[in-house]
Amino acid sequence: MVISVKKEQSPQPMILTDLLARHQNLRMHAHDGLMLDGRPLTPIARDHGTPAWIMSATTIRGRYAALAAALAPTGAHIHYAVKANDHLAILTLLARCGAGADVVSLGELTRALRAGIPPARIVFSGVGKSTDELTAALTENIAQINIESAEELDQLAAIATRLNRPARIAFRLNPDIDAGTHHHISTGRLGDKFGIPIADIPALYTRASEHPCLIPVGLALHIGSQITSPAPYRAAFARTASLVRALRAAGHTVTTLDCGGGLGIAYADEAPLSLPAYTAAIAQSLVPLDLSLMVEPGRYLVGPAGLLLARVILRKNARPRPFLVLDAAMTDLARPALYGAFHAILPLAPHHLHAPLAPLDVVGPVCESTDVLARARPLPSLEAGDFVAILDTGAYGAVMSSTYNARPLAPQILIDGARADLIRPRQPLAELWQHEIVPPAP
Ligand SMILES: *Cc1c(COP(=O)(O)O)cnc(C)c1O
Repeated sequence: MVISVKKEQSPQPMILTDLLARHQNLRMHAHDGLMLDGRPLTPIARDHGTPAWIMSATTIRGRYAALAAALAPTGAHIHYAVKANDHLAILTLLARCGAGADVVSLGELTRALRAGIPPARIVFSGVGKSTDELTAALTENIAQINIESAEELDQLAAIATRLNRPARIAFRLNPDIDAGTHHHISTGRLGDKFGIPIADIPALYTRASEHPCLIPVGLALHIGSQITSPAPYRAAFARTASLVRALRAAGHTVTTLDCGGGLGIAYADEAPLSLPAYTAAIAQSLVPLDLSLMVEPGRYLVGPAGLLLARVILRKNARPRPFLVLDAAMTDLARPALYGAFHAILPLAPHHLHAPLAPLDVVGPVCESTDVLARARPLPSLEAGDFVAILDTGAYGAVMSSTYNARPLAPQILIDGARADLIRPRQPLAELWQHEIVPPAP
């Protein structure tokens, strides 16, 4: 049976003052314009050029502290999902907060280790891990490897035997829950590529227990991303709890449970996931089982901490609506093109805040029809040269950038109190072809 949850309504357009009020780290100063953490953004856009990614360290620390406090009664540890934003400065900041890491590749594992996250606090997830990746996970002696199939269990068993190293594993179950999120970011339904059907797990647990190098420690699940209702979590956790009881009744040792991530944020006028409701779902189903619990939020910790600054290249008058062509594109922020995602857009100049609004299609300059950042968005009459901020881009933003159309990667700036550090310069054009090899003429 699939438990379905009501789909999100598409977001209602909001007036700019409402948008601003929903972002506590932003303020419009009467002279200096839009400010993040009290720092005007226009000089940053001028100094570093656009497009440019801005991250707020204060916002990340605040969100980590709020989540840690909400989780404290459950004893759950936070393992940051590195894929949401894998910049070393962000990983280092989260490591200092005490975060562990959830990684999905050798590159992410190496980044997490470089940022000082101890191997004992790193979990490796993902539906296909290469021999090199599993070898590194075992050699670094990370906390656990989440197994997503019977085939992967055999693959890991062979590598662990060859290395003669113990492998702590958790089985990722597919709870067959529709998380009510966009189908491109749902991961917990039968037919999604992730996890193992619940019915198959007891036999695999037995097989792993009998292997000399495999140590099954528990279960893992992750039902999708940008989940704003606690209902799918409640349903998935209840199914997981039943499986834990069944495994224990069969004589197995189950000590850990990785609850996954997916905690949703507010991109528009939707309510974000309620932390008390989320932790109540954990407390109700999972805490009584006396497990070592972990959660793997990505977006929740870093999404609202970032914005993308862009400049209007030109305003193209067209029917049915004018196009606002920005210097930022789908190659910078892929989410609107990939998922039809909504990102709020605010002008940086103070006089635009209360100006009359008219719907515009906001697009990038890339040669693709999907290079649309916002459709029919009510905005003031912005003109060439005006700056805008595309909000809530701290997660799945810079990490998803590409250099398609030979567009260099945009610079990244980290604001931390009085400091604003360039943490990645704009990619020099020559770097785009630096590693390309042109064979000599035949
Ligand atoms: C992507 C992912 C996460 C993080 O998802 P968010 O929606 O960013 O919280 C956590 N765990 C696994 C296994 C993932 O694939």
